[in-house]
Amino acid sequence: MLKVFYMTFGCKVNYYETECIKSIMKQKGFEKCGSYKSADIVIINSCTVTASGDSRIFSAIRKIKNENPECIIALTGCYPQAFPEEASEITDADIITGTKNKQDIPDIIIRFLEDRQHISIIEGYQKNDIYDHMTCTEFPDNTRAFVKIQDGCNCFCSYCIIPYARGRIRSKSPDILKNEISGIAESGVREIVLSGINLAFYGKEYDLTLADAVEICCNTDGIERVRLGSLEPEMMTDSQLERLSAQEKFCPQFHLSLQSGCDRTLKAMNRKYTSSEYAGLVSRIRNKFPICNITTDIMVGFPDETDEDFRRSAEFVRSMDFGKIHVFRYSRRKGTVADRMPNQICDSVKSERWHIMNHIGINSQKKFLESRVGMTLPVLFEREKNPDFHNGYTPDYAYIKIPEKNFRKSLRNSIFYVRIIDSTSDYCTGQIIK
Ligand code: SF4
Repeated sequence: MLKVFYMTFGCKVNYYETECIKSIMKQKGFEKCGSYKSADIVIINSCTVTASGDSRIFSAIRKIKNENPECIIALTGCYPQAFPEEASEITDADIITGTKNKQDIPDIIIRFLEDRQHISIIEGYQKNDIYDHMTCTEFPDNTRAFVKIQDGCNCFCSYCIIPYARGRIRSKSPDILKNEISGIAESGVREIVLSGINLAFYGKEYDLTLADAVEICCNTDGIERVRLGSLEPEMMTDSQLERLSAQEKFCPQFHLSLQSGCDRTLKAMNRKYTSSEYAGLVSRIRNKFPICNITTDIMVGFPDETDEDFRRSAEFVRSMDFGKIHVFRYSRRKGTVADRMPNQICDSVKSERWHIMNHIGINSQKKFLESRVGMTLPVLFEREKNPDFHNGYTPDYAYIKIPEKNFRKSLRNSIFYVRIIDSTSDYCTGQIIK
């Protein structure tokens, strides 16, 4: 039986797709192994959101070939799809495929094993492509499952390469989703995190919306919690919020990608909202969900971002009281509109702005966790990371630690109410309410 090692880069959608490929490979008689050094085949599921992401793939391939020269390397995913010419020059990759039809990778590997001839299949995207219905019911961590339900993006933000790597928006059919979630519930997973490339656009071709997908999951026995992955703000309507707030199992954490708090920069990024529209959405969410957490992504150093633009962005971000902020430096991507813009910002200014924005994020998170002290909230406990405490998350994604020196019984995959007693900059501590 040939041994396969899986290497995944990037977003939750990529990790989900790797889990799907793993289960197909298993059905076809391949065995999973724990290291690329002992593998016969290495499947690399790539990401190309940033230039540094590409470099990580190149160095991974070099390292694998140096330390295991006989192994077969299959490179798939967003990098070859967005940059097919560059990818075809990677001679150390025996098989190269894009983001379409990832479910065919096992058969392509079997074909390669017949004559060991290099295979490169990178199909372009068409307007009317349909969703690749890969599904998965086995997840490495049986507490929470990241389930992909949507693919593609039509937004073409000026800095983003993803629409070129993932094609146009398309969704998983509700019937297939229903069956998949039932299978996941039977495997013992209690929390579903719905994921997509542009998740908020779920369901268009079925006249459905994201709220329908959430309701499908909430109505599945055995599923206790339903969480949403990253969202684009412009699609979160009042009727969606109304339907989500009616679902007891819905987790009130909204990762609303803002990118900048300055309207001039948002316009140059081709984002589809203004800072005041964003603020309006945040207050509507907080009205609908009194206990909720709003987290976000912020980019610094976008081309032509002046000191004044950055100051406005930082001031706006500070005023939003986010529970957590992921700060990114702008990364030039060949083929995007922003790559051709004048006034590219130098790395030292990007770093300076990154540190300022990241500091705002640290204070925001600290304030969010402090606000949970005194509350009693349900916590879904996960695999213990340390022998001296149990750990898990509340529905609004506050990280909780329950100290218990040398505990004997794991609380993994159980839900208990916890009275929150104290907080630090990264987590809260508390006591389980019997
Ligand atoms: S919404 Fe914008 S940032 Fe998000 S994937 Fe689409 S183009 Fe990229």
